[in-house]
Amino acid sequence: MLILNEEKYAQGIYDEKNKDVKSVLQKIGYITRHLLHSLNQNDEENYKNSVEWLKKHHSNFDEIYYSNLISDAIKKAHKKPFYRIESIKITKSELDIISSLDNLRAEKILFVLLCMAKQQAISNGFTNGLVKYSITDLCKTARISVPAEEREYILYNIVQRGFLGYPKKNNTQCLIVNFVDNSDDNVALNLNEADCYELAYLYLSWKNDGKGYTKCQRCGRMIKQSKTKPKKYCEECAQEAERENTRERVRRYREKCNGNLTQQND
Ligand SMILES: [Zn+2]
Repeated sequence: MLILNEEKYAQGIYDEKNKDVKSVLQKIGYITRHLLHSLNQNDEENYKNSVEWLKKHHSNFDEIYYSNLISDAIKKAHKKPFYRIESIKITKSELDIISSLDNLRAEKILFVLLCMAKQQAISNGFTNGLVKYSITDLCKTARISVPAEEREYILYNIVQRGFLGYPKKNNTQCLIVNFVDNSDDNVALNLNEADCYELAYLYLSWKNDGKGYTKCQRCGRMIKQSKTKPKKYCEECAQEAERENTRERVRRYREKCNGNLTQQND
């Protein structure tokens, strides 16, 4: 997923609500930045509270082993304020280029790469459509499952069409999106944070004029509509709604029982 509001994202990690980040080093990076930029802690407090947080939330955390890494992270945090992207704008001409590929897998991949390039222009300061990617995450975000060699083949075909290029410096983890349109005219999609969770569905929904897709009524992310039983919520929110309903039923049941007891006692 693409992060638009990094401060909120780091807060989610700090509160243990966001479990996306698995690596300790990445966690240390976000926690130290959160303590510095959101909670205005000085380096000493930052170190102490980072260690405390890691002891609490990371099993077998060894302070001696990580002590230098935490101090380095705090130093780096000063040079790395949180970025905030209001929205990612996708223009009609960009969408027309993507759909001209006329192959759904390739189209979804190119759409995700375009969104990533626009996000990385701000988050990494990249220019000219440069985008850093990992093929596994790219395919996951584009919601396509194909064998590894076929993935490269899809990318190769898009390069052949001239919509993607390779950077001059031979970097296998980067590509260049050749048709980035940064104008504010003809914006067809204005992606907010919730949209960034389901880029593939968002693209397909645009392509199908909204048919077959809807937005979760709780979190706003795009969901695939079921033909038989219309869905209101995404999977996560449906589970959360179910838990709330159960709690409510239990509460009412208890109230009823208590009411009966009171009547009996009268
Ligand atoms: Zn939801």
